[in-house]
Amino acid sequence: MSQEINNPGYEIPPEMRGQVAITTLDKIYNWGRRSSIWPMFFGLACCAIEMIVTAMNRFDMARFGMEIMRASPRQADLMIISGTVTKKMVPQIVRLYNQMPEPKYVLAMGSCASGGGPFKEGYNVVSGIDVYLPVDVYVAGCPPTPQALLNGFIALQKLIDAQSIKTVRWYRREPVPPLPVPILGPDIMDPRRFNEIKDYTEKKLQAQHTAAQPEPDQSTAQDAG
Ligand code: SF4
Repeated sequence: MSQEINNPGYEIPPEMRGQVAITTLDKIYNWGRRSSIWPMFFGLACCAIEMIVTAMNRFDMARFGMEIMRASPRQADLMIISGTVTKKMVPQIVRLYNQMPEPKYVLAMGSCASGGGPFKEGYNVVSGIDVYLPVDVYVAGCPPTPQALLNGFIALQKLIDAQSIKTVRWYRREPVPPLPVPILGPDIMDPRRFNEIKDYTEKKLQAQHTAAQPEPDQSTAQDAG
């Protein structure tokens, strides 16, 4: 461990190596977090099967300190979006994300979660979860193999290694507001786009109303003249 967290630039006498480490607060803080990320226990579609396989003994997420998948968002650090994201599921996914405490991360697993995948622009599927959640790591594939997911975990660990407690959002003075939960009506609606959707709908209704107005009867108008 001392090898892993020791900060380069500080020389430790040979006889003390193995017992003493000189490091920064950022480094030890990040080392602790990146080595004990608990993913949330939920899956969405076929990619979830690969995620489950990754947790089994052949690939073994325990090597990353990730073997404890939590069934409660309150105890999870990582949301793995493993599968097709339907419009019906998005409000629940965003609500669960909001219920996770900081620090928290999102990994989009597979082409469905990253951009809609083979169902892109289908009537019931969103074209990527990053429209609604801040995604930290994307894992390519349909489905990604367990090795690809492990590679995504390593990418996440590198991202955490580069963070500083001076700049991370959860240590800012102002509170982090929850993300707006999308509303599912005839279609999915992001509350952040409320005004844009309202303007568009009003213009559309106005155009329909104008088109439905009867044309003035020309012959009657001439007779009257
Ligand atoms: S990316 Fe492929 S394997 Fe994963 S959920 Fe979509 S269709 Fe299924």
